[in-house]
Amino acid sequence: MEKVLYGKPLAALIRARIKELIAEHGLAPRMRLIQTGNDPAASYYVQNIVSSGAKLGCEVQLASLPANVGQAELLSLIAAANADPQTHGIMLQKPLPRQIDDALAGAGIDPAKDIDCLNPVNLGRILLGEDSLLPATALAVLCTLGHYRVPVAGRHVVIIGRSAIVGKPLANMLLWKKPWANASVTVCHSRSANLEELTRGADILVAALGQAEFVQPEMIKNNCVLIDVGINEQKRADGKPGYVGDIDYNACYGKALAITPVPGGIGSVTTSLLFLNLLKAALAAQGINKTVDDFLDFIFKE
Ligand code: NAD
Repeated sequence: MEKVLYGKPLAALIRARIKELIAEHGLAPRMRLIQTGNDPAASYYVQNIVSSGAKLGCEVQLASLPANVGQAELLSLIAAANADPQTHGIMLQKPLPRQIDDALAGAGIDPAKDIDCLNPVNLGRILLGEDSLLPATALAVLCTLGHYRVPVAGRHVVIIGRSAIVGKPLANMLLWKKPWANASVTVCHSRSANLEELTRGADILVAALGQAEFVQPEMIKNNCVLIDVGINEQKRADGKPGYVGDIDYNACYGKALAITPVPGGIGSVTTSLLFLNLLKAALAAQGINKTVDDFLDFIFKE
C-alpha cells in the first residue's frame, strides 16, 4: 500500500470511465446546479463543477440565486428541473441560506435526479443496503480505500462527524455486505464523551468534522489509515489563502500507515463521482440501470 493516498490518479481513472460511457451510449448529460448566495468556498466548488463538466462533455446549467431567495422560489426551480426531461441531475450547492429548510429542499428533488443524495428516498436506500445515487464524498472515501487496496472488510472504521451528507451515509455504506465494505463502524460526533479513546481504536479513521487539523497523533494508534474529508480555509505563511484538512497531516504522518492529503485527496475524487452519478441518472432515464459495482468495477474488483 502506498503511504500517501493521492486523489488525482483515481479521479483521472473515473473521468476516463465517464468519457468512455458517454461515447458508448451517445449521451448528452445535463446537470442543473443551483447555488444560493455567494459563499466563497461554495463558489469555488461550483466553478470547479462547471469547468469539470465542460472538460467531460457534460452540460452544467448554473442557476445563481440571491442569498435572500425564498423557499417557494427555490422549490419551484427544483420542480422545473424535475419536470425537464433534458435535465438528468440536480445538484443543490450547500450551504443553503438560513430561511431555507434543507430537508424540504432535498425532499423536493426527484430521487431519480438526486445526484448529491439529498432526498430521503436515496438516503433510505443506503440504510437498506440498496444501490441508489450515492453521496459523492462518502463514495469517494470508499473508492480511495478500494483503489489503494486498503483492507476494509472486518476492520474497525471510526468516523468523526455525523452529517447527513458525509458521516451517516458513509457509516451505512461501510456496513454494506460487499467485499469492499463489511466494516465494523463507530461514528463519533461533537457530544462523544470519550472521543480520543474511540479514535485510538480505529484501524481506519475518517475525519469529517470541519475543524482544521483537529486530529492529533495522540488520537490515533500506530499504523492507522487516515482519511481526511475536511476542507478548511487557512492562510498560508505567505498570507495567501490555503486549505488544510481535519487531520494534522505533518504531525500524524509518521504514525500513520497511510494518509490522504488536503488538498489533493478525497476532494479531488468527489467531483468526478458527482459526474458519475449524473451519468448513472442519464442512463437510468434511458432504461439502462447500472449499479455502483458496474460503474466502478475497475476499483472494486476483488
Ligand atoms: P457538518 O458541519 O454538517 O458536520 C460536522 C459533523 O462533525 C457534525 O456531525 C458534528 O457533530 C461533528 N463535529 C463537529 N465538531 C466536532 C468535534 N469537536 N468533535 C467531534 N465531532 C465534531 O459538516 P460536513 O458537511 O459533514 O463536512 C465536514 C467537513 O468535510 C468540512 O470540512 C467540509 O468542508 C468537508 N467536506 C468535504 C467534501 C469533499 O469532497 N472532500 C465534501 C463535503 C464536505
